[in-house]
Amino acid sequence: MDTAQDTARVLVVGIDGVRLDLLPELDTPHLDGIARAGFLAPVEVDPGTPTMSGPCWTTIVTGVGVTKHGVWANRFDGNRLDVFPDFTTRLAADCGKRTFAVGGWAPLFLAQQGGPLFVAPTRLGYVAPRADTPEAWEEVDDRVTAEAEHLLGLDEELHAGFVYLGAVDETAHFLGCGQEYRRSIEAADRRLGRLLTSVRQRSGDAAEQWTIIVVTDHGHRDEGGHGGRSPQERTAWVAACGPGLPAGKAPSALHHSDVAAHVYTALGITPDSHWTLDGTPFTP
Ligand SMILES: [Zn+2]
Repeated sequence: MDTAQDTARVLVVGIDGVRLDLLPELDTPHLDGIARAGFLAPVEVDPGTPTMSGPCWTTIVTGVGVTKHGVWANRFDGNRLDVFPDFTTRLAADCGKRTFAVGGWAPLFLAQQGGPLFVAPTRLGYVAPRADTPEAWEEVDDRVTAEAEHLLGLDEELHAGFVYLGAVDETAHFLGCGQEYRRSIEAADRRLGRLLTSVRQRSGDAAEQWTIIVVTDHGHRDEGGHGGRSPQERTAWVAACGPGLPAGKAPSALHHSDVAAHVYTALGITPDSHWTLDGTPFTP
């Protein structure tokens, strides 16, 4: 099954709740660089999927839709992650790969609210917010980024990882999609830049070839909030660059479930038919 060249690696950076229509007016050089080297393209949240973080992130990291993984809201109870695991868990358990997942939203990483989504990556990092406020979430995202930098700096094999940044979404919920929201997206881009620097330092030493995927789960209404089907809420996006992804050629149709599918393909792994992935790898 595994035909990977040993040098393939994948980093997925999830930034929660970033409106696609605002990106052109913001200072996001690191995301722009990924878009130039590969693509940045819209993803419409699947019609049957609530435009909420729980279902969307689960689809992104499992490669299957809500009718399979069973996460319909921000509580993860009743999920079927034992059958449809996230890519960090499956790669570690079934494919002999070393993986990590880091972030600060409890049900993704802890046995809380029916979680965790990331059941058993090789390395797991969770940073609890000191309060449920935009300021506390900016601190969390900084510490999450530092933890990911630490992991990427270790002298050990890491084939794939997921980093979750939540401050942008928190800011929209508290303050709407105004100046603070825009500044939070720019702060997330600076954190993306730190992660890219860590990847570059690593790949120089180890001759690794990295695929970078940056993805958001849903948008927000102007006043902040999501869950409905307005264009602002249902429009998400994916940006990616790496081996096999020609510059400037976006896939013709993109779905959230394609992210996990591309992770496997980028690592040279042909998904087993029993995994019944709904996504397909990014192909221009
Ligand atoms: Zn979200």
